[in-house]
Amino acid sequence: MIRFDRVTKRYDGGTVAVDDLTLEAPTGRITVLVGPSGCGKTTMLRMVNRMITPTSGTISIDGRDTATLDVAELRRSIGYVIQHAGLFPHRTVVDNVATVPRLLGVDRRTARSRAMDLIERVGLEPSLARRYPAQLSGGQQQRVGVARALAADPPVMLMDEPFSAVDPVVREQLQNEFLRLQAELGKTILFVTHDIDEAIKLGDQVAVLRVGGILAQLDSPARLLADPADDFVAEFVGRDRGYRALAFEAAPELTLGTEPTTRLGATGEEVRALGQSWVLCLGADGEPIGWVRAEAVTTTLDPTLLHRGGTVARADGSLRALLDAALSSPSGRGVVADRDGRFLGTVLASEVVPAIEARRDEKGVPAP
Ligand code: ADP
Ligand code: MG
Repeated sequence: MIRFDRVTKRYDGGTVAVDDLTLEAPTGRITVLVGPSGCGKTTMLRMVNRMITPTSGTISIDGRDTATLDVAELRRSIGYVIQHAGLFPHRTVVDNVATVPRLLGVDRRTARSRAMDLIERVGLEPSLARRYPAQLSGGQQQRVGVARALAADPPVMLMDEPFSAVDPVVREQLQNEFLRLQAELGKTILFVTHDIDEAIKLGDQVAVLRVGGILAQLDSPARLLADPADDFVAEFVGRDRGYRALAFEAAPELTLGTEPTTRLGATGEEVRALGQSWVLCLGADGEPIGWVRAEAVTTTLDPTLLHRGGTVARADGSLRALLDAALSSPSGRGVVADRDGRFLGTVLASEVVPAIEARRDEKGVPAP
C-alpha cells in the first residue's frame, strides 16, 4: 500500500501544487488520480519516487516512510511510465527493456531473454525487438515503455498519462491490454490521467483532484458517477453519467425475443419470406454480422447491403451494453449474444428500462 499522509508541496515561487493530501493506494489495485491540467497529478507521482521532495507530510510504502529509504533501492522497487515513453533513442527495443535488469547486474543473456518475454506480454511482435524507438508507432512505443517499467518486476508502478498521446482506437487497445496484464500481475498502481472516461474504465478507485492539489473525492468509479461529492466533481464526471453508470450494473436475465435470421447469399425472396422489414444476418459461426432491409435485397444478400451500426450486447455483459444494443439497432431490436459471440435473441429498449428501474428500487437510496 502506498500512503500519502497530509502531504503538501509548495514550489519556490509559492505555487501550492499539492495541498494536505491524505490518500491510500491499496496493494494490488489501480488507483487513478484524475483532474484538470495543473492540479498537481505529476507532482504527486514524482513525490512517491522522490524525484520531488514534499514540503511537509509523509509518503510511505507498506508502512515504510519513503524519506528514510535508500533512493536507489526505492526507485528499483518502482516502475515509472510517462507520456512519450521516454525510451533511449540509440538503444533497440530489447535493450531498452533490458536496461534496468542489466544495471542491477543481471547477465546480458538472461536480461535479454526476459525482455523478449515482456515484449510479447505487452502485445508486441517479437520481430520489433531489434528496432529503434523512432521506427515504432506511438502506441508501440508506449507498450515498450510499459515493458521496460515491468522489467525489474517492481511491486509498484507509477504511470503518468501513459496513453494520452495516442489516437482513441490505439488508446482503447492499450487500456484493454493494460487491464489484462494487471489482472495477471496485480501490481500496486498509481495511474494519472486527465481523462475521466479513462479513469472510470481503469480505476479500482478514483481520486478526483481540483486545481490547487485538493482531493475532491476518492471513490469507486460506480460511486463517483452515482453520487458526486460536489458540483466540481459532478461537472468533471460529466454529462451522461446516469447512462455511463449502467456500465457497472450486470445485465438482468430477460426473456429474449426470438428473431428470424438470414445468411449471406440468401435470395431476396428468402429474406422477404421472413416477414420483417429489418432482418438480422448471421455469419458462419452464428455470430451477428449486421441488419439488412428486406426490400433492399434485389438479387442475393451480399455484405455491402448490411447495416453494421447496431452494437451487440453479451448476455453476461452490462445494462449499459444491453440498452445501447437496443438504442443503436436500426430495427429497434437489440442484439444479444453469448460468451462466444453467438446470437441468442433480441431485446427492446422498452424491456431494458423497467429492468433499470427495478434495479434502482432494489438498491434504494445510495449508501453514504
Ligand atoms: P498536472 O500534472 O496535474 O498537470 P503538475 O504537478 O505538473 O500538474 O503541476 C502542478 C502545479 O505546480 C502547476 O501549477 C505547475 O505550474 C506547478 N509546477 C510544477 N512544477 C513546478 C516547478 N518545478 N516549479 C514551480 N511550479 C511548478
Ligand atoms: Mg502532469
